[in-house]
Amino acid sequence: MRYPDSVPQCGEYLRLTIPFLAQKKLPAHPLNYALGFEMVSANNSALSAAFAELVKDGDTLTAIQSQQLYNAHIGQPGAEQAAATNAAVGEVLGETQSLVAGFAEQGNLYQASLEREEPRLSHCSTPTQLREVIATLVVDTQSMRRANEAMSDSLAEHVRQIADLREQLDTSLEAAKTDALTGLHNRGAFDDSLQNEIEAARVAGWPLALVMVDIDHFKKINDTMGHLFGDKVIKAVARAIVKQTRGQDIAARIGGEEYAVILPDTDERGARVVAENIRRAVEKIILRKASDNERLATVTLSGGIARLEEDDTGESLLQRADEALYQAKNGGRNQVALSSAA
Ligand code: GH3
Ligand code: MG
Ligand code: MG
Repeated sequence: MRYPDSVPQCGEYLRLTIPFLAQKKLPAHPLNYALGFEMVSANNSALSAAFAELVKDGDTLTAIQSQQLYNAHIGQPGAEQAAATNAAVGEVLGETQSLVAGFAEQGNLYQASLEREEPRLSHCSTPTQLREVIATLVVDTQSMRRANEAMSDSLAEHVRQIADLREQLDTSLEAAKTDALTGLHNRGAFDDSLQNEIEAARVAGWPLALVMVDIDHFKKINDTMGHLFGDKVIKAVARAIVKQTRGQDIAARIGGEEYAVILPDTDERGARVVAENIRRAVEKIILRKASDNERLATVTLSGGIARLEEDDTGESLLQRADEALYQAKNGGRNQVALSSAA
């Protein structure tokens, strides 16, 4: 469960959230309130790290930054739609059940009518009596046929509705796993995939490597060119990563300008090749001004690689890739480093 349902526990977080927002000079609207609640309950380490990074120079968050933090670490737009679609599927199935029950009832009535008329039929001694019994049977059979037709129309309509809802559900579940800006996996989907891939690698006895990359001096790009331009850079880097990876690799945006790629069945040498290819592809990205085609900025990134070790959890593997990334940053950026720790 994401939030505690204990009233005193939530009350305690509420009591801490308001002063927290005041201290960080954040307006207490619902979005910032959700951020504050998560921060004071200290259950969301990725959010805490991203938040601390953004306010480290004593800055407050801009409205855009609040929204970005919320989208990346709290909100899962697809999940709400998925829950609504699930409820709708339940409703249609409930209606189908009553429809079938109604039809069964109609069948019972018809059966009763046949049983009632059958002895009368054997005792008919005049054509008039026979005509009466037959007329009753014809009326009952016609009404059964009408019920049958109505039932198949309704069932066909329900099958169509369920197929539509299924499609909506798939779309919402996909949206809940996707980073809206880049179309890559988001942080939540990345955590799940990493866990699954580690288990699969252990079962199959495969190697597994993790590559983390982070755009160099991105703050400067944002500050000089503006946030929207920064977003374009984030998207261009995501495209480069997708181009340099294969079908089984899993690429995710795990922070503002930070990405991770899970490489199943890949050793360190293979991972180095992938990371270098990404680095080189990004170095070649040319960003131009739309108005006069003037070349605007060069983008580089640094990368860290770690391979899966026997005792690793997803977290420890990610931590080693992150340490390697920091070596690459300290080594002068625009380079890739391999985690030295075993
Ligand atoms: P380094 O080379 O050490 O990585 O430096 P840096 O400037 O890239 O790193 P830093 O972590 O200081 O800055 C990251 C910046 O990314 C700060 C933050 O405002 C910005 N950012 C985070 N998410 C987004 C986003 O979704 N869009 C845009 N445009 N900027 C973002
Ligand atoms: Mg950076
Ligand atoms: Mg960063």
